[in-house]
Amino acid sequence: MTQKKRVYTFGNGKAEGRADMKNLLGGKGANLAEMNLIGVPVPAGFTITTEVCTEYNELGRDAVVDLIKADVEAGIANTEKVMNAKFGSKGEAFPLLVSVRSGARVSMPGMMDTVLNLGMNDDAVKIVAEKSGNPRFAWDSYRRFIQMYGDVVMGVAAEKSEHDPFEIEMDKIKEQKGYKSDTDFTVEDLQELVKLFKVVVKNQTGKDFPTDPWEQLWGAVCAVFDSWNTERAILYRQLEGIPGEWGTAVNVQAMVYGNMGDNSATGVAFSRDAATGENIFNGEYLINAQGEDVVAGVRTPQEITLEGSRRWAKMQGVSEEERASKYPSLEETMPNAYKELFDVQNKLENHYKDMQDLEFTIQDGKLWMLQTRNGKRTGAAMVRIAVEMLQEGMIDEKTALLRQDPNKLDELLHPVFEKEAIVSARTLTKGLPASPGAATGRVVFFADEAEEWAAKGEKVVLVRIETSPEDLRGMHAAEGILTARGGMTSHAAVVARGMGKCCVSGAGDVAVDYKARTMTIKGVTFKEGDWMSLNGTTGEVYEGKVGTITPQLSGNFGKIMDLADKYTRMYVRTNADTPHDAQVARDFGAKGIGLCRTEHMFFEGERIWAVREMILADDLAGRQKALDKLLPIQRGDFEGILEAMDGFGVTIRLLDPPLHEFTPNEPEAQQEMAEKLGVDVKIVKEKVESLHEFNPMLGHRGCRLGNTYPEITEMQARAIIEAACNLKAKGLNPKPEIMVPLIGTVKEFEMQEEIIRRVATEVMKEKGVEVDYMVGTMIEIPRAALTADEIAKKAEFFSFGTNDLTQMTFGYSRDDAGKFLPIYIEKGILKNDPFQVLDQTGVGQLVEMGTKKGRDARADLKVGICGEHGGEPSSVEFCNGVGMDYVSCSPFRVPIARLAAAQANIRK
Ligand code: ADP
Ligand code: MG
Ligand code: MG
Repeated sequence: MTQKKRVYTFGNGKAEGRADMKNLLGGKGANLAEMNLIGVPVPAGFTITTEVCTEYNELGRDAVVDLIKADVEAGIANTEKVMNAKFGSKGEAFPLLVSVRSGARVSMPGMMDTVLNLGMNDDAVKIVAEKSGNPRFAWDSYRRFIQMYGDVVMGVAAEKSEHDPFEIEMDKIKEQKGYKSDTDFTVEDLQELVKLFKVVVKNQTGKDFPTDPWEQLWGAVCAVFDSWNTERAILYRQLEGIPGEWGTAVNVQAMVYGNMGDNSATGVAFSRDAATGENIFNGEYLINAQGEDVVAGVRTPQEITLEGSRRWAKMQGVSEEERASKYPSLEETMPNAYKELFDVQNKLENHYKDMQDLEFTIQDGKLWMLQTRNGKRTGAAMVRIAVEMLQEGMIDEKTALLRQDPNKLDELLHPVFEKEAIVSARTLTKGLPASPGAATGRVVFFADEAEEWAAKGEKVVLVRIETSPEDLRGMHAAEGILTARGGMTSHAAVVARGMGKCCVSGAGDVAVDYKARTMTIKGVTFKEGDWMSLNGTTGEVYEGKVGTITPQLSGNFGKIMDLADKYTRMYVRTNADTPHDAQVARDFGAKGIGLCRTEHMFFEGERIWAVREMILADDLAGRQKALDKLLPIQRGDFEGILEAMDGFGVTIRLLDPPLHEFTPNEPEAQQEMAEKLGVDVKIVKEKVESLHEFNPMLGHRGCRLGNTYPEITEMQARAIIEAACNLKAKGLNPKPEIMVPLIGTVKEFEMQEEIIRRVATEVMKEKGVEVDYMVGTMIEIPRAALTADEIAKKAEFFSFGTNDLTQMTFGYSRDDAGKFLPIYIEKGILKNDPFQVLDQTGVGQLVEMGTKKGRDARADLKVGICGEHGGEPSSVEFCNGVGMDYVSCSPFRVPIARLAAAQANIRK
C-alpha cells in the first residue's frame, strides 16, 4: 500500500500541489502551489491537507501529531533550505519565522485566524535585530507574534464593550507619548510592549508564553484545526451551505516582512472592481505594516493605483496636493514594485480567467505574493465581469452563465433609494462605498443586539468602530453596516460584499461610544434605536428613513438574461394574483402565470361581505344570490390578470382554502357581521362553530369545496371564461388554464371538469366568442402523484403544488413545522428546510413518478411546478431533470429561476 501523502511542499518555482487540488490542499494552499509553478514569487512553505483535519477530528491531537511529525519536520527543512534561514536558530543563521494559515476548499473570510512571525522568542528577536540591522522591525514582529498567538492559540479575548487587552496596552503608550500611529513606537516601546503582552497572556490564561518554536508551531497548527469547529466557522458554513466534513488545510509558510521600514509594505488588491465590476486594477496598501493591518482597519490604508488614489481623494474631498503628500499611491511610492504587481495581477487573471483577489507583501522593495483566489463580488460586479470577460473573449457564453450565482442576482432586484427622496435626504457624512445598495434602519451598536432586534422584526443598521468575525451573525441580520474605521478591503467591506449587504466603511466622522450606546457625527448625537440610512453605492450616510424603489432589468443584467434564454429548455412563469404583480413579473421575463390564487381576491374590501353572505346562506338559492354578486367582481379581476399576461398561459386555481378562513372569530367582529348581513349574532356564531375543523389543512378545502358546492365552481368558471371572451372580443389573446386543486382521485377531477366545460360552452355560446382554454389539476396529494396516469387521461396539465405535497409526504404541518424544523436542521436530521429546498429523494420521487405516469397517459401533458420551490435554484435544476415544461415562482425570483433553469440545462 502506498502511504497517504499528508504534507505538500512548495517554493522556489516548484510545488507538489496544483490549483486543481483545492479539495485536498484548500483554496489557499492549492493556489500557493500553482503560483509557484507559473513563476510568481511566493515565499516557500508547505500545506498540511484537509484530510488531516478530518483525521484530527476523529483521532485527536496526539495521534495526529505523531502521524505528521516527520513530514512537517521535512517541510520545515525544505523551507529553511529555500529561504536560507533556520527555524529555532541559535545564531548560526537568520531565524526562520513562519506564518500558520488556515485554508478551506472555499474561502471563508475571517473564519480561520492566521498567526504571523511564529518562531519568535527572546533569542530569535536578538538575532533578527542584529542580522537585519533593524531592531525596531525585530521587536515589532515579536510583539505582533505574542498578540496574534495569544489571541488565536491561547484564547486571550476582550469582554463585550471592552477593548482588546493588547490594544489597551498599546493605546496607553500611544496616549502617554502622544503617538498617532503604531508606526511611531520606538524600539524601547516595543520591548516594553513585549513584556506587557507576556503579562497579559499570563494573567488571562494562567500560562507562560511558549518559547520553544516547535511547541509554538504545533500549538498553532492544532489551533487551525480547532478553529474549523468554532461557532463562527460553523455559522458561516451554515449560511453558505458548506459541509462540515470538508475540513481545513494548514499552510505553514516562511515569513516575508512588510514591516521592515519605509521600503516595505503590505496590501490587498483586486484585478477588477469587486463592488461595481469595472475592469480596473485596484486595492489598498500600508507602508511598514504586516498582514492583518490592512483588513483589520487598524490604520486606514492608501490606494494602490494613482487613478484609484485620485478617485478616493475626490470622494473624500482631499485636494490633489494633500493626497500626493499625505496619501500617495503605491504607484507613486514604489514604482518598481508596483509595476511588478501590476504584471502579476494581469498574469494571474489571465491564468485563472476570473477576477483575482490578491494579497501581497513588499519586503525592502521586493514583491512577494501571499494569496490569490477568485474574488468575492457583489451581484452587480458578478454580472458585469462575466459579460465583459465574454466580450474580451476570455470566457465563452456557457462559462459566463455558469459564473452567475442565481441567489446573488437577488441583490440586483433589491430596492435602491428613490431619486427624489435622496435629493431631500440630509447627508450626515460620507464614508467609503464598501458594498452597494440602500439600507434604512434603526441604529444598533452590537452584533448580538442587531440579531435580537431583527428577530423582533425591526430593521437595523449595525454601527461599529470596525467589525470582526464575531459580528457575522449581526451583520447578516442588519439591513446595512456602517463602520468608522477600515478601508475598502476591511473585514466589514469584504464580508458585506460577500453577503450582498449594503456597507459604508471608514466613515471617520462617526465617533462611536459603545458604553453610552451613542454615536456622534459632526456634533450631532444619535442614540441606539434612532433611524438612519446608508447608501453603499456612494458611501453617503443619511439622517432618518429614506424611501426606496425597485430596479430595472437592463444593461449587462439584460444581457445575461438573454443568454439564459438562449440556453434554457424550461421557461419561467410567476405566481401572481394581481395585474400589478403579473406586470412586474412580465417585466422580469415571466412567460405566463403558474399560479393565480383566486381566494386572495375574496378578501379585498367589500368583497368579503358577499363571500360571508354565501357562507351564511343555508340553501342553494341563498348561495346563488351571493355568488351572483361575486361574479362581476371576479370577472373584472380575471380580465385584469389575463390582459397583463396577454398571449401567455395563465393558470387560475379554483377556490382552495377552508371556508372558516373567511369568517371572524372575535365576538365584536361576529357582531359586526351579524348586523351587516341582517341576521342574529347567534346564527353567525353557530356557523363559525360548524365550520370549525380539527385539522383544516386536511379538511374541507380544495376541490372538496367545489364538489360539495358545485355552484362555486360554476361561478368561477363563468367569471374566467366571460373575462377571456371579453378580452378576445377586444382583439387580445387570453389563454386561461383552469386548475382544480387538491385532487386525490380522478373522480374528484372529473366532476369539476364536467362543470367547467359545460359552463365554458354555455358562456362562449352566449358571447358568440371562442377562446382557447385548458382544464388541468394541481398534483399536491401523494395519491394524485401515484395515480397520475388515471388523472392525466382527463387533465390537460399538471402543476406540482410542492408546498402541500411536501407537507403530506413528510407528514409535517406547514403551519406548525416552525417549532421543530430549526431543531431538526441544527441536529442534522434534515439537511435543509424541505419547504424551501425540494426534498429530491422523497418528495422528488413523487414528482418524477407523477410526471412520467402523466406523460405516459398523455404525451403532450403540460407539466410545471408552482410551490415555493419553483424559485429555488437546486429545485429548479431538479425540475429540469424530470422534464418539466416550466417552473413558476414569485415575481422577484423570476430572473433567478430563469438563470437557474439555463444553468441546469447547460450542466445536464
Ligand atoms: P485570511 O485567510 O484571513 O486572509 P491569511 O492566511 O491570508 O488569512 O493571512 C492574512 C494575512 O497575513 C495575509 O494577507 C498576509 O498579508 C499575511 N501573511 C500571511 N502569511 C504571511 C507570510 N508568510 N509572510 C508575510 N505575511 C503573511
Ligand atoms: Mg484572517
Ligand atoms: Mg488571506
